[in-house]
Amino acid sequence: MKHIKYGLCVSCNQKVDLNQSNTCPKCKDKGILDVVYDYKYLKKTITKSFFTEHKTFNIWRYKDLISIKADEILNTLSVGWTPLMFANNLTKQLAVKSLHIKDEGMQPTGSLKDRASFVAVVKAYQLGKDTIACASTGNAATSLAGNAAKLGLKTVIFVPKRAPLGKTAQLLMYGAQLVRVDGDYKAAYNLSKQAIDKYHWYNRNAAVNPHMVEGKKTVAYEIIEQLDFEAPDWVVVSVGDGCTIAGLYKGFYDFYKLGLINNIPKLLGVQSEGCAPIYQSFHTNHDIKEADENTLADSIAVGIPRNPIKALEAVKKSKGTMVKVSDEAILKAMKTLGNYEGIFAEPASAAGYAGLKDAVQKNLINHHESIVFINTGNGLKDIDNALKSVPNKDVVKADLKALENYLEIKDEMNDS
Ligand SMILES: *Cc1c(COP(=O)(O)O)cnc(C)c1O
Ligand SMILES: [Zn+2]
Repeated sequence: MKHIKYGLCVSCNQKVDLNQSNTCPKCKDKGILDVVYDYKYLKKTITKSFFTEHKTFNIWRYKDLISIKADEILNTLSVGWTPLMFANNLTKQLAVKSLHIKDEGMQPTGSLKDRASFVAVVKAYQLGKDTIACASTGNAATSLAGNAAKLGLKTVIFVPKRAPLGKTAQLLMYGAQLVRVDGDYKAAYNLSKQAIDKYHWYNRNAAVNPHMVEGKKTVAYEIIEQLDFEAPDWVVVSVGDGCTIAGLYKGFYDFYKLGLINNIPKLLGVQSEGCAPIYQSFHTNHDIKEADENTLADSIAVGIPRNPIKALEAVKKSKGTMVKVSDEAILKAMKTLGNYEGIFAEPASAAGYAGLKDAVQKNLINHHESIVFINTGNGLKDIDNALKSVPNKDVVKADLKALENYLEIKDEMNDS
């Protein structure tokens, strides 16, 4: 691949040939690689007009900027090019310059993870592997299963016992070999690692596989294109393993290096109070300490984050910051997004909005600034938690009088 120079170890700065290894031989699992591009080479073809004239509106649009062999376009799911919507109601409510919502709930399997899974299945296919495996809190698994099904690849998926039913149903529909591990995400991850070593399946585990971030970064490209090459002041996203926020930074960095934007947006990373190891490390400058996974936001309940170095660097280099939010604030944010913008977010995604609200209240984000919030996952994946924020078990008799009474009672309840 002419556009790629090498992989750079985030721990020891060693250059690694990406054709030889996916991790740094010296640092092993801590030696996560960053794919380093030849921007001089890319600059010759990747210009603003390259994009304005491009007619492909899915992730293949960016094939020349990610670490896949780009000569053959495969029959994949149509990942990417999700809508960026102006949030007129919440812009007013937050009293900020502008808020846009990038709706990754509209991805083929309903979460941002499709961007990484796309790269995983394409790479596995091109390497001639027939089975891909991963451990996941839910969405990475679901998305891998869906994307693999389309390319005719098999998947073995390790999820923690608590994975929500919606996500589990998706997995089974996509024909994955499901391993529901008796334990938390950490346990699922460890078992998957041992099995991958033993059976030599293609490893989609996000942090270890450097190419997953390369898929995720395309969300940043789209944001910039959809805002007419004007970078926003802030981009807000929730953080679990840290690959999404690392990908965001990488995407903006690529466009910056290619001269397509003049500045990189500040990144606001949001974690849940019940599981905030990266937040903790960011504010204390201490190494990552293992945390409990004690939050209803299952997709960001990651007690041992696998990509903290890239995530922390992304936030720091962007001059952004991190906040944490309670489960209560997350449920409230779900309701706010639904009520005011027609966005049904899953808890982990709504956590990002709760953090945004907090950051505006604390003046970390100023009222004259423009913001993009990324809705990372669709609320239909986890309706049990959704119903916690909007309980409604009432049944009304099928006659008009009963309805009248009911509406009156509801009205009184709303007034009081
Ligand atoms: C995975 C995920 C995140 C966080 O991404 P990381 O790469 O783990 O930091 C946020 N929201 C949703 C819905 C996710 O599935
Ligand atoms: Zn290293």
